[in-house]
Amino acid sequence: MTWYYLIGSQPTGPVEETEIDHLFNLGTITLGTRVWRQGLQTWKTLADAFNRPAVTCFKCKRLASPDLSVQYGSLSLCQDCKDIFFQQIREGLSPETTGIYGGFWIRAGAYLIDQIALFLVRLPFELALRAYVFWETFQLASGSTPRPFWQSQGILIAYGLYFVFVLLLSLSYYVFFVGRYGATPGKMALKLRIVRSDLSKVSYLRALGRYFAQGLSGMLLYIGYIMAGFDSEKRALHDYLCDTRVIKRQSTP
Ligand SMILES: [Zn+2]
Repeated sequence: MTWYYLIGSQPTGPVEETEIDHLFNLGTITLGTRVWRQGLQTWKTLADAFNRPAVTCFKCKRLASPDLSVQYGSLSLCQDCKDIFFQQIREGLSPETTGIYGGFWIRAGAYLIDQIALFLVRLPFELALRAYVFWETFQLASGSTPRPFWQSQGILIAYGLYFVFVLLLSLSYYVFFVGRYGATPGKMALKLRIVRSDLSKVSYLRALGRYFAQGLSGMLLYIGYIMAGFDSEKRALHDYLCDTRVIKRQSTP
């Protein structure tokens, strides 16, 4: 009986059944490789077609032989992924699949903490701005020809500068902390961490992208945020867009 197998999307073959074993031992084909012979309705995985025991690796989602994988609780990990997985556990990332994602309310709490922190940093600048505007308005009103405040160039410039300052402050706060620590101070306080879907770290660039994606989530009554309450992996819109998840940190396994 002869078989065909897919390399990428390229059908290769035909090869004899004994050759399949040989290719498998060489690593050319794996348990997850799609194979087909005459008489089969669809391409099947090698594991399926030859009834070989296989487990799905939690990290890379590929099929692996049970003999060559390790179990961590209910999770299977293939040879290639196990080292990095246990590294992540040592860093305090939760390995459980159930309940690892931070839900809507705890994230709302983290958001609130961040907003308060940003407000406190902004406060002295905001007070200075208000004092200046008050003084300038008073000057204009008490001049020989009283004028309303919006005719003062100084006030318009001060508002403009303050606006740019607030934007840059929140952007750099977010990108710095998420890029460096994987969490804003609010998330750190509540033991949350932002990671990629495979639990790897978020880069500065991705943190920047996620900052703007959050802006999108905030439009239309925060609907992008509220989505997290209904998603199986608690993804908000910006998590979908940036391939991120918010997970709960655990101290040590
Ligand atoms: Zn794997």
